Amino acid sequence: MSSAIVPVYARADVAFERGEGVWLTATTGERYLDFGAGIAVNALGHAHPHLVAALTEQAGKLWHTSNLFQIPEGERLARRLANATFADLVFFANSGAEANEAAVKMARKRHAVDGHPERYRILTFEGAFHGRTLAMIAAGGQAKYLDGFGPKVDGFDQIPVTDIGAVEAAIGPGTAAIMIEPIQGEGGVRTIPAPFLRGLRQLCDARGLLLIYDEVQTGVGRTGKLFAYEHSGAVPDIMSIAKGIGGGFPMGACLATADAARGLTVGVHGTTFGGNPLAMAVGNAVLDEVLAEGFIERVARLGAFARQRLAELKDRHPDVVEEVRGEGLMIGLRVKLSPADFAAAARRRHLLTIPAGDNVVRLMPPLIISEGEFAEGVRRLDQACADIEAASPLVRKGAFA
Ligand SMILES: *Cc1c(COP(=O)(O)O)cnc(C)c1O
Repeated sequence: MSSAIVPVYARADVAFERGEGVWLTATTGERYLDFGAGIAVNALGHAHPHLVAALTEQAGKLWHTSNLFQIPEGERLARRLANATFADLVFFANSGAEANEAAVKMARKRHAVDGHPERYRILTFEGAFHGRTLAMIAAGGQAKYLDGFGPKVDGFDQIPVTDIGAVEAAIGPGTAAIMIEPIQGEGGVRTIPAPFLRGLRQLCDARGLLLIYDEVQTGVGRTGKLFAYEHSGAVPDIMSIAKGIGGGFPMGACLATADAARGLTVGVHGTTFGGNPLAMAVGNAVLDEVLAEGFIERVARLGAFARQRLAELKDRHPDVVEEVRGEGLMIGLRVKLSPADFAAAARRRHLLTIPAGDNVVRLMPPLIISEGEFAEGVRRLDQACADIEAASPLVRKGAFA
């Protein structure tokens, strides 16, 4: 029977009915090793006992009251996020795109309340991905997401990444902020060099701009730091997070310094669902685990282990794997065939991976994965590479290089 869902997704022909840790069980009973984690969402894997307990306990008490009332669990989560980061204040949303919308509105409003409403333009970067709302497809600037949706929302200027001269040249009297992913996710796990991020910080300070980091994908331990900005030491004024913070429960947040958030006063911005008791209970439970002694350090160690195993994989399959990149457990394999075809080959070996841009396949397992489980994933990648080599003499000869 045909699907009644709007067909905007190219779904693989598999459905899962349960999960445990890094493993998923399909409706057919087959087990899959999950190196995608729902696109870097299931930070603690599937059915983590602490998250299940937090959600079910909250579900039995109270689901939703709206932001017309106090939400103590939200106060607690905001305070914990602020204590763990550069931020003073947190706005809760329901998704990454919404967190980014809050970030952009916050930056624009800050300049407006300072008497500069003309400063509303945001500099963004080629290869960026910030979500699918009308403003965020303009921020991302990719033709394939903008095409057919009418006039591009005004106020976003795109520049090449890692060219600080181009950034400086693009700053005008109307510029409010610079917005960047410290590691581009959808763009293909492209790490933005730390000196470039520090250059952006200096430019923002010198020109009175706000620096916005989109850490929707890189945040919450994924890169071996609580947030990726810690790798560079170039601290943002505003930061959006989402994916990992809910561990699978839909939520997002926009973190900011008190100064950057100055324009967001009563009635200026809001959401019905954002920060509701269910989301806040789960967010706090995620932080219980991620902030626990040694958790992040373990992710960093595993990341180093993973990179080494994958470098060996690349050496064994030079006609399939071209490059290993990334940070922590946000890993990209640049492959010599379509990333979707590679992901399909891995899936036939019961390993889930996520295609991205720049010919990259992402490996982003739950952060709780063990070394043994990662090694099992590499074994399956080996098999998938062998399958690809066997199926295509062209690949074997390197003709796709
Ligand atoms: C996934 C993602 C988004 C969009 O998040 P949604 O929850 O899909 O709206 C924005 N920015 C980055 C960097 C992302 O990876």
